[in-house]
Amino acid sequence: MIMAACYLDSHNPVHCYGCEACVQACAKGAIRMEEDSEGFRYPVIDDSLCINCGLCRKSCPFVNPPVRHIDEKLVYGGYHKNAVIRDASTSGGAFSAIVESWCDENYVIFGAVADGLEVYHTYIEDKKELALFRKSKYSQSRMGSAYADAKRFLKQGKNVLFSGTPCHIAGLKSYLRGKEYENLLTVEVVCEGVPSPLYIRKFADYIRETHGSRLCGIDYRYTDSAPISSPETTTPGKWDFQVMRLVLENGKEIKKDRWFNPFWSVWLNHLMSRPSCYECPFASVERNADVTLGDLWGVHLYCPDLYGRNGGSSLIVCNSRQGRTAWKKAQEHMFGRELDFPTALKYQGPMRGHIAPNELRAECMADLQNCNYLEINKKWAKRPTARLLWQKYVWGNRQKIWLWNLTQRLKNTFTSGK
Ligand SMILES: Cc1cc2nc3c(=O)[nH]c(=O)nc-3n(C[C@H](O)[C@H](O)[C@H](O)COP(=O)(O)OP(=O)(O)OC[C@H]3O[C@@H](n4cnc5c(N)ncnc54)[C@H](O)[C@@H]3O)c2cc1C
Repeated sequence: MIMAACYLDSHNPVHCYGCEACVQACAKGAIRMEEDSEGFRYPVIDDSLCINCGLCRKSCPFVNPPVRHIDEKLVYGGYHKNAVIRDASTSGGAFSAIVESWCDENYVIFGAVADGLEVYHTYIEDKKELALFRKSKYSQSRMGSAYADAKRFLKQGKNVLFSGTPCHIAGLKSYLRGKEYENLLTVEVVCEGVPSPLYIRKFADYIRETHGSRLCGIDYRYTDSAPISSPETTTPGKWDFQVMRLVLENGKEIKKDRWFNPFWSVWLNHLMSRPSCYECPFASVERNADVTLGDLWGVHLYCPDLYGRNGGSSLIVCNSRQGRTAWKKAQEHMFGRELDFPTALKYQGPMRGHIAPNELRAECMADLQNCNYLEINKKWAKRPTARLLWQKYVWGNRQKIWLWNLTQRLKNTFTSGK
């Protein structure tokens, strides 16, 4: 069998997911992460400390990809029954439902938190602090000592819920060297890759120059609906219209429309993703984690009953026995139902394959290093098409759902009147 080349030997950026498993595996502290000119982090060995034990290479998920789940999947769509939690989550709040039911006692939860523009992994031992992990932070999370901490807790017999991107979960599994733990539940998000942090830094420079204050927080997918204070509220949400909410040091808030926000255009045209994302082996039907969570894209087309007044919906894919058992309990916190996997897959590109390379990426990345925010956007961001704006603001998901509801009502009246 030919072994894949490890980044530590090849220095090929495609060979490193940036998961930091090697850093944590090194007993001598001989490996550190360093940013390259594109802003992505890679391991660097200090030869004066290295004793050539090889543990770093053995823990690398690129060289030793974990065994993936190929069992039959349990697929579910829906949203959290508590409107406050749903509103505070990215999709339908499925992550919170899992935490609420799985984390009973003697548990610890790992996830990604934001500190200003930085994103890193940490753990909490009280689910009341779960808000820290809610909301997708669209930047690669730094692992720090998360794998080592998780392993320590697992050995102590704690129930460990570890969440992250698919490559984070692969990193954890390689770090654990394939050992299975009954007290471990892994939850991954569907992932379309991570963008270069250079863009957001340029954006932060621009905000400081134009508003005279530092950008200290970003909510990438803020729903901007009327404040939801009651768990039972049925006020329509604004999931289709999520905006980017910026918080400045001087307390000011800025909201940027989703469809006119150049960040999404540059990133989602795959002009600034991490090199390994263009060949990601985890973007497939066979998954690493026990549970995969995503947005229920296509909800208005194939399961309009789960739209829930535009408040956000989750896709939940249980890939293993542990995943199915966990979800069967979590389900009690959700409105929803089982879905057909092939249909759900049609609307989930990142579960079918990795992102396609963009031949202009190198040029865009060079501009990210040399140009300012406005110059970058002028050259690389596309304006929304008239068709998209029509779909979003004139005739789109909400109207299709309205029509569907009307048809259902008419059908019911017709059949009950027979
Ligand atoms: C980088 C990234 C790309 C994504 N791409 C897609 C996509 O293409 N299609 C799709 O359907 N869904 C995608 N998602 C997933 C989606 O945005 C939601 O995170 C997911 O549906 C869970 O939402 P929720 O409402 O259940 O819970 P929430 O409570 O909002 O979810 C929070 C979960 O996300 C994790 N998380 C947040 N930021 C990060 C991060 N930077 N790195 C690792 N984990 C993080 C937290 O640890 C926690 O587990 C992506 C998420 C991320 C972070």
